[in-house]
Amino acid sequence: MKPAPSSILLTAPDGSTRQSLLGMNLAELETVVAAIGEPNYRAKQLHEWLYRRRAADVMAITSFSQQLRRRIAETTTLRTLTLADQQTSEDGTIKFLFRTHDGFNIESVLIPSEARDDQDEPKRRTICISTQVGCPLDCKFCATASMKLKRNLAAGEILEQFLRVQEVAQQEITNIVFMGMGEPMLNYDAVFRAVALFTDPENDFVPASRITISTSGLVEGIRRMADEGEKIKLAISLHASTNGLRSELMPINRRHDLSEVMDAVEYYYRKTRRTITFEYILFEGLNDTEEDARRIAKLTRRVPSKVNIIPFHSINFTNPTGISARLHPTTRQQFDNFVAMLRAHGVQVMVRSSSGQDIEAACGQLAVKHGAATLKSEM
Ligand code: SAH
Repeated sequence: MKPAPSSILLTAPDGSTRQSLLGMNLAELETVVAAIGEPNYRAKQLHEWLYRRRAADVMAITSFSQQLRRRIAETTTLRTLTLADQQTSEDGTIKFLFRTHDGFNIESVLIPSEARDDQDEPKRRTICISTQVGCPLDCKFCATASMKLKRNLAAGEILEQFLRVQEVAQQEITNIVFMGMGEPMLNYDAVFRAVALFTDPENDFVPASRITISTSGLVEGIRRMADEGEKIKLAISLHASTNGLRSELMPINRRHDLSEVMDAVEYYYRKTRRTITFEYILFEGLNDTEEDARRIAKLTRRVPSKVNIIPFHSINFTNPTGISARLHPTTRQQFDNFVAMLRAHGVQVMVRSSSGQDIEAACGQLAVKHGAATLKSEM
């Protein structure tokens, strides 16, 4: 796996380069200011303008003289993403399409909660952030899989999704989920570099308790989070109660099967004492039986946990083959039955809403149109 670039370097047509500052920590900013012969305290100022005051442009940093701003802007930049498209769903979900400096498309989604406060404002506003361009894991129900992995995102690109969405939305974002395109554990360093900046109280983004990382079950990442004392929440994409079905749906299960994933989850719980969320998409006739409910209850009982039941959002596969052709959402009635069965087994169940389905912004639908079109024309 290619490491994520620690910082983005933009090359102009004349060959000159500019380094993106977003994603850098204080020590790295100190190196940047030292290179232009400025004292150390400038790095602290830059840090504050980058993360707390969220300047969009070096020229907006008004505590620096015009001349200093111009000097910094010669070799650096703050933003690297271009907002290419934006769509609002009937339920208020907004999908953002960003283009990276090297021409890739990534998506972020802003999801208002259904619950409202006294002023009829949504209680929560969750941003769903992408961590990779595409994904290498080839889960058979996920639209991103069709893009394959193009590259990892840098920490600055992960952070910038938040900044840009917040600017457009003009509303406070209260929660972050790493559930957009990509497998965050395969881009661990960049994701947790972004997490460190998001959760630094000085920067005033969101507390760790309102950030969730979702993984298909990359056990090294789960154990590393536990060892490194990461305070954000962990969600595991389970989606099947047997290794046979899980390996068919999620090829990663052949590398790390259910028992290995559950061992890592138990290790994580012992070290962190934090409740784990399991995500479970319901597929008609495949994983929605009484037997499945019993097995899910048995598996998830190993740690204090919740199970998030997710309706399957059908994907417009051009040429579904194998198991992909057999994936259908469970009927409303069986969905409710399954939830009731889990509850009867003592499982704490949450039902995830399907925000943004009409604009293909719901889970697993973040295959970028542009990329999908290329794929179709290749067939
Ligand atoms: N790679 C990570 C995070 C991205 S997916 C992971 O696997 O957890 C975020 C969630 O959306 C996962 O639970 C994923 O399984 C789910 N998802 C993917 N495709 C979906 C689809 N077509 N319908 C419903 N949920 C889907």
